[in-house]
Order: sequence, then C-alpha cells, then structure tokens
Amino acid sequence: MPEPGSKERLRRFLRANVGRVIESHELFEASGRKNEFGRRIRELREDEGWRILSHNDSAELKPGQYLLRETPPEKRAPVHGRAISARLRALVFDRDGSICQMCGLSPGGVDPETGRNVRLHVGHIKDRSLGGTDELSNLRTLCSTCNQGAKNITTEKPTAIWLLGQVRRAGIEEQRTVYDFLRAKFAGSG
Ligand SMILES: [Zn+2]
Repeated sequence: MPEPGSKERLRRFLRANVGRVIESHELFEASGRKNEFGRRIRELREDEGWRILSHNDSAELKPGQYLLRETPPEKRAPVHGRAISARLRALVFDRDGSICQMCGLSPGGVDPETGRNVRLHVGHIKDRSLGGTDELSNLRTLCSTCNQGAKNITTEKPTAIWLLGQVRRAGIEEQRTVYDFLRAKFAGSG
C-alpha cells in the first residue's frame, strides 16, 4: 500500500483530535510536509465541509491554534469535487450582488462578530456530500464565517430598510451592480 498523502495524514490526525486545541507545529508534523498544511486545511474546510476553526473564527484560539470541534463528515470529497471555477464564482457573486446571502455582509465591511474584514466565498445550498451540484442554482454567496457554519445567526433575512441604507452608502459602481442585478432578476416578471 502506498504511503498516505499529506491530506489523508491530516485527516487521520484531526479525526483523532476532535475537540482538542491543536498547535500548528503538530499539523506540520502530522502532514509530513511543512508549508502545505495551510492549503490542505483550507481544502478540508471548503471541499469536504470540515469545521476546522482558527483564531479567525473563534476568540478562544490564538494565532497558530486550530480546533476541530465536531467529528467531520465521513464521506470523502467526490471525484468531481473540484474548486468552483473563477467564472462560476464571478457569476454567483454578480447574481447575489456580492452580499453574503445569510448575514447580508459585503466586502469592504468588517464582520461585527469576528472583527475581521469580510471575505466572500461560494457555498453550496445543498451540500456536495448530500448530492448537491455545482450548478448556479445550487450556489450562493457566503462570507467566510457563514460559509463555515460558524455564525450565530438565524436564517433571518436582511430588511428592506437595512438593504436600502447599504445601497445608498455604496459607491456608484456598486449601485450600478445592484441595479443591473435587480433589473436582470425581475426582467419579464412585470
Ligand atoms: Zn455571512
């Protein structure tokens, strides 16, 4: 049997350490290849739905510490589980007006819960592990916090007053994007 790759070694190590704060040097050692574990961690989070927290996600953690709070999904990434293409990402962001579809934050802002700058990701509405596809209709714009399922919010939607306030504050280019988005969305619906 071939030696397991660095990602599989990280999977095994993390599974054996659910609920314990892990230091980055342990991940170095577990992966067997330093400099690579950051990318592998990101892939586990984004492609396989592992909820690995870092200091960006939890005030309990210091820089260089990681925590896998719950046992991750058993299933591996499907063979087609590749990253969403840049073109598809752009389409999703454009359609969603570059606003997190769960909490309503947009880039250029600061997340009031984490104090971090907002970064957007493309998330699946129905998870890949449950058979969700990479089609546009199954994708949505999420901020990093919502994408990791780490945000403490309900599915409450942003109010019209709040949205209009954001649009008024935005630059003319952003307003144009919102205008184009709404016009396209409601084209033909009267
Ligand atoms: Zn969000």
